[in-house]
Amino acid sequence: MNASRQPLKPLDEALADLLQHAVRLGEVERVSTFDADGRVLAQDVTSLLQVPPQDNSSMDGYAVRLADVAQAGAVLEVTQRIPAGASGAPLGSGTAARIFTGAPIPEGADAVVMQEDVEAFEVDGRPMARINAVPKDGQWIRRSGEDILRGTVVLQSGTRLGPAALGMAASVGMAELVVARKPRVALFSTGDELVMPGAVAPADMKPGAIYNSNRFFLRSLLLRLGCEVTDLGIVPDRRDATLQALRDAAASSDLILTSGGVSVGEEDHIKPAVQTLGELHLWQIAMKPGKPFAYGRVGKAHFIGLPGNPVSSFVTFLVLVRPFLLCMQGVQGTQAHALPALLLPAHFDWPRPDKRREFLRVRINAAGGLDLFPNQSSGVLTSVAWGDGVVDVPAGQTIAHGDAVRFTSFSQLLA
Ligand code: AMP
Ligand code: MG
Repeated sequence: MNASRQPLKPLDEALADLLQHAVRLGEVERVSTFDADGRVLAQDVTSLLQVPPQDNSSMDGYAVRLADVAQAGAVLEVTQRIPAGASGAPLGSGTAARIFTGAPIPEGADAVVMQEDVEAFEVDGRPMARINAVPKDGQWIRRSGEDILRGTVVLQSGTRLGPAALGMAASVGMAELVVARKPRVALFSTGDELVMPGAVAPADMKPGAIYNSNRFFLRSLLLRLGCEVTDLGIVPDRRDATLQALRDAAASSDLILTSGGVSVGEEDHIKPAVQTLGELHLWQIAMKPGKPFAYGRVGKAHFIGLPGNPVSSFVTFLVLVRPFLLCMQGVQGTQAHALPALLLPAHFDWPRPDKRREFLRVRINAAGGLDLFPNQSSGVLTSVAWGDGVVDVPAGQTIAHGDAVRFTSFSQLLA
């Protein structure tokens, strides 16, 4: 069937089909917690201790026994001083302990009175404390296990590690973590019109030539998603060069990612070359930007061909390739597949419904609403650079100013 006559494939169906191929990589590795940012846990992290380990003070003040301070003005002898990192002795009746934030509560103490409510003085060289406020039981005490109980799974296998998760792992004593191996991705761009920045100065660009922008953002997107990237550069629009690039890429990677050359009716070499070496499915997806999309295999490697138009390439990467890469690393369920979205008011009108699901580039304004970039063409990369994210417009729908719409932020997708 001629590809242009293919019925459009709904995006959710395309994603589900694609993810059937995203088999989790078998290998795992042990890395320092310092180096685990952005990696995906391959084992649960279970706490072997209580956090905090002991009851401790959340104030600088005096640890007391409630029975000794039934009335304001009670005077107690200060028999010990417990800074953070020290451990006190049991608190005798009629005495108080000078205590500091984070220091363990001595046995027998029921509460901490903050230092502002205490008058310190001396009698015959012995430190004394007049307690001017009657404390409540447990006041200013952080309980052992209040944050984490021993035996709790604090991070689940499949969690993508970020700053908070790394801090959590460290708080239960994990110096190393078992994570999924990084997916190896070979990246190349196709198109004889493409020129690398630096190779030709802007003033010397020949008619028809454009700079290769896709290579830069695709590489950056891949790195942010925890991949090891082999950049094969620009492959000329020639059969032999394309076959060679695909063979090289397949030998060393889990995924070959290309941009360009999957548009309908184009004279290009990617499609026949992938078909020669393996198998190829070319989909026309009901999304805008980004209709053409190819999935296939070359040898053991997966092949994904993104459209060449920069905005199409960017958006299809986020909605399709991102989940694919997360699933390969073991991120599961909606955390991997669903686009994280917030409902925010549109501060624009979008009166023309489209039969494809649209991803409009928008920016959050100071009033908490969404402004639309005026040019939504799939070649206009400015819309992405200017935007904070996209509004996900279901097929056939319009938007009126003030409508709550589904906003997906670029930074959340890449966090
Ligand atoms: P194609 O998908 O190859 O038909 O390309 C569609 C459009 O995207 C054409 O205008 C190409 O010049 C442009 N394009 C393709 N690859 C890139 C790239 N790597 N960087 C910037 N623009 C590109
Ligand atoms: Mg092309």
